[in-house]
Amino acid sequence: MLNRLEKVSVSSMKEAIIAALKKSKTMRSVLSSVLLVKNFTLTCQTGRSRRKPKVIQLPITYKCNSRCVMCNVWKMDYSNEASVGEFSKFLSDPLFDQVASVGINGGEPSLIRSLPDYASEILKLPSIKSLNIISHGFNKKLLLKSIEDIYASCRAKGVRFHVSISLDGYGETHDRVRGIKGAFSRTMGTIDEIVANRSKYCDSFDLGCTVVNQNIDHLTTLDNYVRERELKIKYRLGIDNKRIESDQVRDQYSVIYSPNVQSASEFFHWQYSSAKNLGDKFKYFSLFFWLTASKRKRLLGCMWKEDGVTLDSRGNLYYCAVASKAIGSLRSGNGQEIFFSDANIQYRQELIRENCSSCIHDYGGKAQLVDVVYFIHQHVKRALAMRWYRMRLSIGWI
Ligand code: SF4
Repeated sequence: MLNRLEKVSVSSMKEAIIAALKKSKTMRSVLSSVLLVKNFTLTCQTGRSRRKPKVIQLPITYKCNSRCVMCNVWKMDYSNEASVGEFSKFLSDPLFDQVASVGINGGEPSLIRSLPDYASEILKLPSIKSLNIISHGFNKKLLLKSIEDIYASCRAKGVRFHVSISLDGYGETHDRVRGIKGAFSRTMGTIDEIVANRSKYCDSFDLGCTVVNQNIDHLTTLDNYVRERELKIKYRLGIDNKRIESDQVRDQYSVIYSPNVQSASEFFHWQYSSAKNLGDKFKYFSLFFWLTASKRKRLLGCMWKEDGVTLDSRGNLYYCAVASKAIGSLRSGNGQEIFFSDANIQYRQELIRENCSSCIHDYGGKAQLVDVVYFIHQHVKRALAMRWYRMRLSIGWI
């Protein structure tokens, strides 16, 4: 009894401290600095590690009813995808027994009518702590019904559930990126409902925008729109992704290989300057730095190097979420043998050597200390530059 009381008071104390920290602006920035500095690694991840994955990226279907300019999934075959029973067998592989977080994407997950049943299988993973889903939000009824059911299952298991909806522009800009007339109003209908009844659908919610040629000149309109509505949005750069064949449509969407690269770097610098916490500042500074450096260099960490796996709807496994070939299938083999085979580990090392420093996908994962220090140095220099200039002006130095 005493033990229980102690636990309750410790946890309420923890909650009170977190609430107080969240309220104070100074404490918030101290906290985000601590988190950033804590979240680094001294070593360089080479791909040699034999650790089991902690994160699964789960494209649950290749089916999609969008026509996005930056992706070819909607043209791809979606036959022969795993039933709930087969999916359950995939997840029972001991390779996944340390997985703490799963991200469902696609294709478009809301098109799977039995999505809550697939989610229930995910929630049986022994170490699962959080589940995320990303959707284009066109199919309001289908998506809301699914996420409401999934959230109820997550609550019962004490697993955090996060929902992210893609919004790539305001009005016609979103329609242009998604290749569907009326997409914006359909997506906003879903967003409005989730925002109005958030506690019914998820623990947390945000929007994701992919920066591409088709929206680069209209991002400030989108940013003002979401700020006015107090919606949280994350920006990411549209990049080549082997699995969804976006490398085949690079010329039509990618700002990286077009004159729009200048506008993109300015946009990310603006996001860096206006971001509220140091983690976001690091992310956007890294994007800006990557876009403007004469030799592209990655400052951010990446969980797909050694801590993640992609499992697709046919049981294929991949190391990295964007550059990896399929390394084997759970339909014909054992997950651990596939994931840790000498030939595949060697392939992962090559993949990291050849792709990672010039890749800007994934903003999670532990960054190297040397890169965090570089960022902090640049950040402090920029923050003090104007004061330094004014001080010199006031004493007549310039
Ligand atoms: S290529 Fe990119 S996404 Fe893949 S492991 Fe390397 S840094 Fe991560």
